[in-house]
Amino acid sequence: MHVGPSLDVGESDVSCSHCDEHLAGTDESLKTQLPVREGPITNAGPTMVDEDRFVSEEMVFREFFCPGCGALLFTETARKGDPVLEEFRIEAE
Ligand SMILES: [Zn+2]
Repeated sequence: MHVGPSLDVGESDVSCSHCDEHLAGTDESLKTQLPVREGPITNAGPTMVDEDRFVSEEMVFREFFCPGCGALLFTETARKGDPVLEEFRIEAE
């Protein structure tokens, strides 16, 4: 089953739809299994607003990649040091 533009979900694992690389088991937290690059929030793009106007803590921009082909699979913004945000979980019926 395709989930979004980059994920294929099977009965027991999640793989990259670009290169078929195994990414995680369906019982694992997907994003914590992926290579991640963490940088300043300005890495999100030139139109990103100055976060100092809204929050007093340091914010970071995280990019999660496929270890097989390097495709960018997820991004998130977070406070520096916060755990990876688990946006969704895949559960078998
Ligand atoms: Zn891939």
